[in-house]
Amino acid sequence: MENNDIFVDVLIDRDIYPGDGYASTETDDEYPMDFTIYISPIGSFKDTFLTLAHEMIHVKQYHRGELVTTEDGELAWFNGSREDRWWEDEAYSKETKLYNSFVGRYKKIN
Ligand SMILES: [Zn+2]
Repeated sequence: MENNDIFVDVLIDRDIYPGDGYASTETDDEYPMDFTIYISPIGSFKDTFLTLAHEMIHVKQYHRGELVTTEDGELAWFNGSREDRWWEDEAYSKETKLYNSFVGRYKKIN
């Protein structure tokens, strides 16, 4: 195990609205390494894995310190801005590319 490994647990949560999910980290570290993604089990393969891809982009943002949780528990960009929720713009703009990359690899090994 390398010190720079990032751990992501993916938990199925039936209480989450279908197609939704969220990523979280339990640590207060500036560059967290441990994450949990909660995801709804209800939905098509594509919906589920698009959501997973979306949340993985949030993991990347947390890990790099781009997205932070403020003292009042709200999400903010690293510079303190909450305007425009840029983290969602990035996640939505990249989720399909990440999903397609995953599906391409998945088809090769199955
Ligand atoms: Zn999001």
